[in-house]
Amino acid sequence: MKAIVSLNAGSSSIKFALYALTGNGPLALAASGKIEKIGIAPRLVARTSDGTVLLERDWPDGAAMTHADLLGALFAWSAAYPLEGREVIAVGHRVVHGGTAFAAPMRVDAALLDALEALCPLAPLHQPHNLAAIRAIAALDPALPQVACFDTGFHQGRPELATRLALPRALHDQGVRRYGFHGLSYEYVARRLAELDPALAAGRVIVAHLGNGASLCAMTGGRSVDTTMGFTALDGLMMGTRCGSIDPGVVLHLQTQLGMSAAAVEAMLYHDSGLLGVSGISSDMRTLAASRDPRAEEAIALFVWRAVREIGALAAVLGGLDGIVFTAGIGENDAEVRRRICAGIAWLGVTLDEGGNVAHAPRISRPDSRIAVHIIPTDEERMIALHTRAALEASA
Ligand code: ADP
Repeated sequence: MKAIVSLNAGSSSIKFALYALTGNGPLALAASGKIEKIGIAPRLVARTSDGTVLLERDWPDGAAMTHADLLGALFAWSAAYPLEGREVIAVGHRVVHGGTAFAAPMRVDAALLDALEALCPLAPLHQPHNLAAIRAIAALDPALPQVACFDTGFHQGRPELATRLALPRALHDQGVRRYGFHGLSYEYVARRLAELDPALAAGRVIVAHLGNGASLCAMTGGRSVDTTMGFTALDGLMMGTRCGSIDPGVVLHLQTQLGMSAAAVEAMLYHDSGLLGVSGISSDMRTLAASRDPRAEEAIALFVWRAVREIGALAAVLGGLDGIVFTAGIGENDAEVRRRICAGIAWLGVTLDEGGNVAHAPRISRPDSRIAVHIIPTDEERMIALHTRAALEASA
């Protein structure tokens, strides 16, 4: 039996999944896992689809381990993993940036890799990890087809205005524009919503992808209209370690008045800001929620405040709102953050079903709520696998 592997090499985690192909039918998840807490104390867990743990490894002193080191450990394991006759026919990758040239998923070749390499400055925290994973697999098995699936792709086709920054227009033509990210997650959630509640999916919906990286996407009829991330994945909401939208004058001040180098500012905005920067404790929402330190509460309060503010902005862009969907680590699991965000947008017509929210029920708004609120677990890996299968078929 044939199988496809999805790899999602992100900033603080590498998620992977193995899907068995059953003709054109649904992809059957065979095994999946995650390496998380990269840069802190990496932990690798792989499970079968029924949750049985296949492999568990901890590196308590592994703060310095790179993504490549950890992928090496994963490959060493997968080489030994009994694939039970499954033949891996392709690997699909989440690639954060497709620039203006690439929207639809594409088979990887040397020319594409070079073109994607040139986009690294636009996503320095993510793109190098994505491409390193592609190169690592190409080195292991040069003949194995690989497919790049772009996180920017879903947002192409937005109204032109949503892509513009109010900068001299020559810059826009050079690619200094708003792209938007988390597209694979939004595409998956939009498809699931269309299955679960087609009438709502046809309307005006904001999807809140709240994980380590966080953004919102305003959709009409399942298509992206606007999104909070822009030129880079720094823009928009407050995140685990990223600042989200800030006055660009702050960047000038840091450099001209405080004498910080561009590299130091970059490191601060990507790695030392957000929940970690404001709390001074952790980038991890679970750690902050468990803390009694008032700085932890202030960081959570700011995270909620920024989300409320941006939901209001996107509701205005949509000309009203029919539904909200929460997804990703915080969106799917943190009932308290969801409750606080929904309280902040009660004026829009959101009435939360408190019990349903605590139970992580799929629909967490009351029946009489004017705006429906759902939780839909995202599955970027499955979206990657679906695209990879389609790209293989298209190139067959
Ligand atoms: P990434 O962007 O790295 O894929 P995730 O979507 O996995 O991130 O989200 C990570 C965030 O989700 C962390 O802040 C983590 O604390 C939070 N999270 C995960 N599980 C829970 C939970 N059960 N309760 C609260 N927060 C959670």
